[in-house]
Amino acid sequence: MKLYFSDIIIDSKLVKYGVKQLTRKLFWEDPYLASFSTTIVSINDDVENAGSYLVELAETAFYPEGGGQPWDEGQIGDANVTYVFEKNDKIYHRVDILPTKKEQVECKINWERRFDFMQQHLGQHILSSRFHKLFNARTIGFHLGKDTVTIDLLKDSFTVEEFQRVEEEANHIIHLNLPVFSLYPSDEELDSLPLRKAPKVEDNIRLVEVKNTDYSPCGGTHPSRTGEVGIIKIRKWEKMRGNVRVEFVCGLRAVMDSWGKYQQFNSITNLLSVGDTEAFEAVEKIHADNKRMNKQLNQLKKSLLEYQIKDYYSSADKIKDYSLVVKVFDNVDMKYLQQVASLLNQYPKTIALLAARNDKAQVVFTRSKELKIDINQLFKEVISLIDGKGGGSEVTAQGGGSNISNLEGLMDAAVLKLKHEYIK
Ligand SMILES: [Zn+2]
Repeated sequence: MKLYFSDIIIDSKLVKYGVKQLTRKLFWEDPYLASFSTTIVSINDDVENAGSYLVELAETAFYPEGGGQPWDEGQIGDANVTYVFEKNDKIYHRVDILPTKKEQVECKINWERRFDFMQQHLGQHILSSRFHKLFNARTIGFHLGKDTVTIDLLKDSFTVEEFQRVEEEANHIIHLNLPVFSLYPSDEELDSLPLRKAPKVEDNIRLVEVKNTDYSPCGGTHPSRTGEVGIIKIRKWEKMRGNVRVEFVCGLRAVMDSWGKYQQFNSITNLLSVGDTEAFEAVEKIHADNKRMNKQLNQLKKSLLEYQIKDYYSSADKIKDYSLVVKVFDNVDMKYLQQVASLLNQYPKTIALLAARNDKAQVVFTRSKELKIDINQLFKEVISLIDGKGGGSEVTAQGGGSNISNLEGLMDAAVLKLKHEYIK
């Protein structure tokens, strides 16, 4: 039977018009159907999910995952529906236990979850239609998740003012409370309609129309009037491989999102004791102050370290005319030892044996560049005393070991070797 658009064929007439559906899709006939009773056609073990079962119903109001919209959850009899999918025109419901009843089984959709998805989904149609109409930006991707909703737009970038304009016009369409239809036009009728995107299927194309505003092929569930979307709020956007990804929220999600943001914002303005319009300026000032103070702090740290290094050098032990700095630090890291080493070996005729005691023992040996002593050799000869390993060059060697209790022993051994074997 041929379908004629002029009849404004809506989903509830689908069965009457004989459209082929192996599992009758009650969610198309009535997207508000939250409970229904039907017959279980088959139950099979879910081979991909041990312990779960796949149930096929004579008809279903459970929406299967698809077109960017997640599946419905709920109950079939006493079993919980955890996943719904469509395969070869049949819809399968994953359930956690075997339903006890097979006929006249009561089914219930988790309506809060479904209605939220309906709001986000129609919100997406409206938002995409405005990006298309105002900036000729086609929507090439749609993701509707439990927390976030995004669309990907075929355009390099938008200005903040352009996003604001899209959001205003999208909300205007909500306020107009336009009716939303599902249509099944003939090929000729399809050609005459200003479709926002090309259909993905060839037969029985289902169009969702926001009255005289947007025509989009879609198999999802939507509220019957735009007013039910409540509000559309663009949250943020980012460039993605030459496209723009826009994140938004609709309906109650937008209210909850805004509540969370105001709580954050109010905490910030209270903490800073500033009014709403002064918040950014105040944070910007703190950020700049912080940057400046960090810079000062780093300069001070550097000066202090240089002062300490000078002190280490001037109070160093002497072996002949060599200066020997031996230091064991508590709770410093390897980076600090390296920094101290690189400053000390700038001094003439200086050898530094540095170590750190933290959760393990760490050692850095170094010497002035003009000396002929092989520091790596010395390091290799003693590092086993802390069950350690490591190495380096003739100028600087470093490593670590687990035997912290023998760190002093290692330092003493290195000093003795220097005195008797390396410096003659
Ligand atoms: Zn849709």
